[in-house]
This record gives sequence, structure tokens and C-alpha cells, in this order.
Amino acid sequence: MDFEERLITSELTEVDKDTESGLRPRSLEEYVGQEKARENLSVYIEAARMRKEALDHVLLYGPPGLGKTTLAGIISNELGVNMRITSGPAIEKPGDLAAILTNLSEHDVLFIDEIHRLSKSVEEVLYPAMEDYAIDIIIGKGPSARSIRLDLPSFTLIGATTKAGRLTSPLRDRFGVQLKLELYNTEELKKIVMRSADILKIKISEDGAREIASRSRGTPRIANRLLKRVRDFAQVKGNGDITEDIADIALGRLEIDKIGLDAVDKRMITTIIDVFNGGPVGLDTLAATISEDANTIEDVYEPYLLQLGFLNRTPRGRVVTRLAYEHFGIKYGGEDPQLKIEE
Ligand code: ADP
Repeated sequence: MDFEERLITSELTEVDKDTESGLRPRSLEEYVGQEKARENLSVYIEAARMRKEALDHVLLYGPPGLGKTTLAGIISNELGVNMRITSGPAIEKPGDLAAILTNLSEHDVLFIDEIHRLSKSVEEVLYPAMEDYAIDIIIGKGPSARSIRLDLPSFTLIGATTKAGRLTSPLRDRFGVQLKLELYNTEELKKIVMRSADILKIKISEDGAREIASRSRGTPRIANRLLKRVRDFAQVKGNGDITEDIADIALGRLEIDKIGLDAVDKRMITTIIDVFNGGPVGLDTLAATISEDANTIEDVYEPYLLQLGFLNRTPRGRVVTRLAYEHFGIKYGGEDPQLKIEE
């Protein structure tokens, strides 16, 4: 199955775009879960407002679909300022970034998604911008070239990344606030599903919402997407209301198993078991064997498999655990204590 077609992909797809903006919470109050990040942010926002200063720069990191863009929007709403949205790969030249920065107003938020993908030369413009609210522009060429410093309005940079480890340390160090977003638990996702159903005027039972939540791999974007697919099913096969049964049948048809795994997860786990004897196997070797992109494996598949305890990351590579063997009904031949005793 192509990654783009995966129902459980946590990347934004065409299907999401029509409703994504309507479902986004607009205040910290509406934002479900991520207690730690939320509590810290509310203090920082309040303090910045009291001091009438720009909020310190914020780095948000965690797997896709967990609410980084949403949180950036909420921060600017709560601060009562405008947000300018761009992304690392979209800023090609230092001049592009300079143009964006000089167009900001006092205390505005600049949101840069995928900030780990900024080029070196663009990143260098960002350092003085973040630290001193200024940029250095070179005027002229050759021996007569000179650099002038241009003051910028004080602004807040919010950077989002799936890979905090890929950020250079000078860039990372310039973020005063660094928040890691975690995968959501079933109760939190259930709340998100109920909230979205309410906005989309879908009738859903608590059990139906929990069924969808528990199969959404800890990711709100996936929960919202599954809700919409189950709704289609409920309309065609039932009376339009989502019950636990309808959700279960629909998700079964969509080939998403009881804990949210699909055919690709299964292929990944069984390949490590069959071809690599359960591991350890390096990320690149695994990616090549199952013909998937290493980045996609790292960002999209692994976080949930790690959280489930199906996969371990060791210095020598990925190792499948006994839990995963049991889930897929494969006999475990690894470090079974009983086997050890028999030896
Ligand atoms: P990211 O930027 O991390 O990829 P987004 O901010 O685009 O993720 O979130 C994806 C979708 O998930 C949003 O449209 C929003 O509806 C929903 N969502 C994310 N986080 C939450 C949350 N904490 N509460 C409710 N809905 C959320």
C-alpha cells in the first residue's frame, strides 16, 4: 500500500483539508490533553501579556498530527496577535526569510513548520533575528560591500519539528521554551472524537467514540479522519449514528486492527521477525527491505509501535518484543526465561 493512501497516516492528506480548520481548537481551554505543555504555556502567555512583551521563542516537537500547528494558532490567539505561517523547505533563500521578518508587526508570531529543514544560510539569518530582533543585510558587492543592521519588531518564533535531534544546537538553544508533545491516550482521543463529532453534527455513542479513539494510534489527526470514514459507513450501512458495533465493523473493513495497526505495521513487524530473526536491524536496512522511506518509518510508524512496547530501539538497531509476537500470533523464540533455564 502506498504511504499516501494509508488511512492511518498522520500526515495531512486531501481528505483532511476540508474539515481540518473547522476542527482545530482555538483556545487552550478547548485543547485536549498535553497537560504539561498546556500548563506551562498558559503561564508563559499570561506573563508575556502582563509585561506587554513578545512571548519567548517556542519549539514544539513530536510526531506529526499531534497538534503542533494547532497549538501555535492557539498561542497567537491567546496573545491576541497575528500568526504568519511558513515552513523550513518553503524558505529557500536568506532574502525570503528577511522579507517575512521585516513584514511582521510588533509581538506577531512567526510559525515555521519542519524547522529542521531550514538551509544553513537561512538559519544564519535567524540567529540574530531571534536573539536581537535584527538582521544583517549586505549591500553592494566586492570590496565596497558593507553590512547594515536592520531592526525588526520583537516577535515570537514558533518552530515545529518531528525531529528535535536534527536541529543544530545554536538554533535549538535560541528557543527559550521547548515543549515535547506526547501521543494521546484513549480517554483524551475519545474527548477529541466526541468534540469533532459535535462540530460535524455526527451522532456518536461514548462507546463508539472510544472504539475509534483506541484505534487511532495516539494521534488526533488520525482520530478525526477515522471518525469521518466511520460516519460514511454508518450512513450507508446503518441509520447514520455511530455505535460501538458500527465503528468496529467499519474499522475492520478499513483493515485497521483492534489497536490501530494496519497492513504496513504488520509487514514491518513480521519482516523484522522473519528476515532478521526479531532484530536488531538498522533503520536503513529495514527501510530498504520493506520499501519504505526511513524518515516515514521513524516519524510515523515507530512512535506508536514504541509506545505499545512492540518495538525497542537499541544501539544496534530495532528489536521486536515478545508483545508484538503475541499480538500477531507468532511463536516467540527470543529471550524467553523458560528457554534459558532449559539450556
Ligand atoms: P501537527 O501540526 O502536529 O502535525 P495539527 O496541529 O495539524 O498537528 O493537528 C491535526 C489535527 O488534529 C487538527 O486539525 C486538530 O483538529 C486535531 N487536534 C490536534 N491536537 C488536538 C487537541 N489537543 N485537541 C483537539 N484536537 C486536536
